Amino acid sequence: MDQLQEPLQPRAALAQDLQADVAIIGAGYTGLWTAYYLKRQAPDLNVVIVEAQIAGFGASGRNGGWLMGNLLGEDRLLGKLPAAQRAEGFELLHGIPDEVASVCRQEGIDCDLRKGGVLYCAARYPEQERRLREQLDAYRRLGLGEADYRWLGRDALCEQLTVANAYGALYSPHCATVQPAKLARGLARAVEKLGVRIFEQSPVLRWQPGELTTAHGRVRASWVVPAVEGYSSELPPLGKHQLAAQSLIVATEPLPADLWARIGLSRGQAFSENSRQVTYGQRSADDRLVFGARGGYRFGGRLRQDFNLSADERELRKRLFGDLFPVLRNARLTHAWGGNLGVARRFHPHMLVDRRQQVALSGGYGGEGVGASNLGGRTLAELILGRDSLLTRQPWVLKERAVTSLPRWEPEPLRWLGYNAIIRSFVLEDRLLASPHTPKWRRQMAEGLAAAMESLMH
Ligand SMILES: Cc1cc2nc3c(=O)[nH]c(=O)nc-3n(C[C@H](O)[C@H](O)[C@H](O)COP(=O)(O)OP(=O)(O)OC[C@H]3O[C@@H](n4cnc5c(N)ncnc54)[C@H](O)[C@@H]3O)c2cc1C
Repeated sequence: MDQLQEPLQPRAALAQDLQADVAIIGAGYTGLWTAYYLKRQAPDLNVVIVEAQIAGFGASGRNGGWLMGNLLGEDRLLGKLPAAQRAEGFELLHGIPDEVASVCRQEGIDCDLRKGGVLYCAARYPEQERRLREQLDAYRRLGLGEADYRWLGRDALCEQLTVANAYGALYSPHCATVQPAKLARGLARAVEKLGVRIFEQSPVLRWQPGELTTAHGRVRASWVVPAVEGYSSELPPLGKHQLAAQSLIVATEPLPADLWARIGLSRGQAFSENSRQVTYGQRSADDRLVFGARGGYRFGGRLRQDFNLSADERELRKRLFGDLFPVLRNARLTHAWGGNLGVARRFHPHMLVDRRQQVALSGGYGGEGVGASNLGGRTLAELILGRDSLLTRQPWVLKERAVTSLPRWEPEPLRWLGYNAIIRSFVLEDRLLASPHTPKWRRQMAEGLAAAMESLMH
């Protein structure tokens, strides 16, 4: 049966005290992948997952479905390494979509996975082309060749995707698209088949090394793996190191074949429009345009609970995709949603193990965790099992480090002021560059300011 047609029947809650080898908090991709790779390598291990709502309730069940062979900040992290190690690191990252595809095949998980690559488009103003070409040069300096990233001129781009004002695009094959909720639910079933027990509707109220506590039961475990990403603020001390931000998405009704023939994306490619503000999408397997744009941060890192988007939130996204695809200006939106995601202070993920306390943690993926969480799960499994491998020797792996040693976010109101200053500079830049009437000096000034603000993020 199609996994999305199944009734959403929660699994049983934790109703008693338990003992386990590994207790995972959160049944998103990170928790599920960690459980999966642990059980595949050590079938006798007693692994339990304790989830506040249902598996996939968090960002994992509600994202934009880009399964990237990348990691946020990879260029900074791998750029520091000698060439051979750097090449190994990139290869590991680029292999993520194929690894996920292979597990999906093996476990019978149908999540509409198609590996069509990704198109980073210069689609609104000429500076986007220049910036993408600079990005390509930077990739070349890191040793990445035509097989990893290549430039598509306007005509070559149009063979894959027709956007209103195309200048060209950077294409990479290392990306697939998925239906995110199907992947989360399929994975939950796969780990259950391997013997992992998942308890749902069981919010963990507090945790410490060796133990987690819910309202109706406690799990004592040798290892504890908090995998709550965007919800870290609710589980001290994680919130000091990982902030919640929100991302919002809309989907159109299924669009007819003649419209798609004019737009493209026939192989399940992901696409983005390369402004400093996030704008990205995919054509779903059932022919909808799934389109995400812009994010948000709430004072104090407060979580957003209600993701019924307001009329303004829907309209903004509709206008943005209407600018890219004028034939879709009147397309009907049938779905709109969003979620909380986790951002680490240095804007790149961490995969951490503290063997003394027996705590392992992977997170801080920003908006790029669909693929990274697979790598995170694979890596945590190796770390917990005490193995040394290519996975555990990467610069995002922090060995023998306490969770509290992760870089901390500044206190409020600094975070709020910083976020708003950065976003305002991005909005200003985008508005000025999108207008052909903006004089050159103002374009340069706006771009310089936004670039300087962006550099503060690292
Ligand atoms: C709208 C949106 C679009 C996105 N698009 C993309 C994309 O296209 N590509 C990409 O790579 N990334 C994308 N991301 C990011 C990506 O979805 C996440 O990085 C990834 O899913 C994180 O997985 P996770 O398992 O670490 O966290 P989550 O999926 O958030 O899982 C955490 C789980 O912990 C549970 N939990 C929280 N608190 C407790 C508690 N106290 N007790 C027990 N359980 C608890 C939650 O209910 C949740 O199920 C997007 C995110 C959002 C919100």
